[in-house]
Amino acid sequence: MSAVAWEAGKPLSVEEIEVAPPQKNEVRVKIHFTSLCHTDVYFWEAKGQNPLFPRILGHEAEGVVESVGEGVIDVQPGDHVLPIFTGECKECPHCLSEASNMCDLLRINTERGGMLHDGHTRFSKDGKPIYHFLGTSTFSEYTVVHVGQVAKINPEAPLDKVCVLSCGMSTGFGATVNVAKPKKGGSVAIFGLGAVGLAAAEGARVCEASRIIGIDLNPNRFEEAKKFGCTEFVNPKDHNKPVQEVIAEMTGGGVDCSIECTGSTQAMVSAFECVHDGWGVAVLVGVPSRDDSFKTHPIHFLNERTLRGTFFGNYKPRSDIPGVVEKYMKKELELDKFITHSVPLLDINKAFEYMLRGEGLRCMIRMDA
Ligand code: NAD
Ligand code: ZN
Repeated sequence: MSAVAWEAGKPLSVEEIEVAPPQKNEVRVKIHFTSLCHTDVYFWEAKGQNPLFPRILGHEAEGVVESVGEGVIDVQPGDHVLPIFTGECKECPHCLSEASNMCDLLRINTERGGMLHDGHTRFSKDGKPIYHFLGTSTFSEYTVVHVGQVAKINPEAPLDKVCVLSCGMSTGFGATVNVAKPKKGGSVAIFGLGAVGLAAAEGARVCEASRIIGIDLNPNRFEEAKKFGCTEFVNPKDHNKPVQEVIAEMTGGGVDCSIECTGSTQAMVSAFECVHDGWGVAVLVGVPSRDDSFKTHPIHFLNERTLRGTFFGNYKPRSDIPGVVEKYMKKELELDKFITHSVPLLDINKAFEYMLRGEGLRCMIRMDA
């Protein structure tokens, strides 16, 4: 069974489809749990993104390898894996560089609807092709993924929890600990208190930041965010001046670092301009719309502020994620509190409703129910 997005913005349809065997360097994975991330919603709405339908969305998931194609040696049937939207070939200059996770071959590609090997899809219904999404397409009981896009993890890890490490939690947590790198006692501003932003807050807590300021337009987010270490809250709607000015006043000139997890260009500008001159670092995580651009005065850079961005928290999926799973196993990282809802695959459209209403954090979708 798979949840097919036949048209932009229309409820997904749960139905039987055909999933072809894995080809060269591909694996077929039986998905047990998948959850919904805001990136799926943007491509389903296709308002600010190129429409490509019919498509199977989904990229935050956990599964077990069912079969492998020619040339696959790193994983075998029965291995527990997290499919990851950005891959690691282990051979290109990016994979060989310690600084980058932007693999030349398998970096995130939102436009590709077929598999890298032959450009064709492995999904079809009555002979009609159904496109892939991010190379993962996890809203399906079975999916086919390039071997460079699966992280083999500890088989003891609970499938319904570590699922969220396949996108949102690693993305937010890594944006803080790998990219912003706040110092002990430092101040951190988090824009957007969905699951990605709260994972960034969790990273700030682990780095022992002293002030973690949460910024969101939705006041319902604030109560929940206390559980994630946020110490103060700002709703831009409550002020008649730009939120970056409010934060500068609260902190005597600006925060040491900020992490933007909204996808709004307005928040991106505020996140940059609210960091302290001389040393402040802002990190962009939110996915922009196709035609977005933003404006800021160059003096903010001259005054020694740094603006960075990252996909997947700068983690190399195959090399680093098994270690992040171990952090969860050793209780150094909490995941359970991110999972606020759970639905069977047949009710997957409810997960979209919760996300659109800004209700809860991650909704777990159970494939076998
Ligand atoms: P979410 O919808 O659960 O949370 C986003 C939050 O941002 C919401 O609470 C919303 O009220 C708030 N928000 C929106 N506009 C705002 C603004 N102008 N100012 C303050 N708050 C605002 O989404 P999520 O699943 O947590 O994802 C967050 C973002 O991260 C999305 O843009 C998603 O596409 C992106 N993302 C990026 C990566 C990456 O690798 N870079 C990976 C996963 C998700
Ligand atoms: Zn995601």
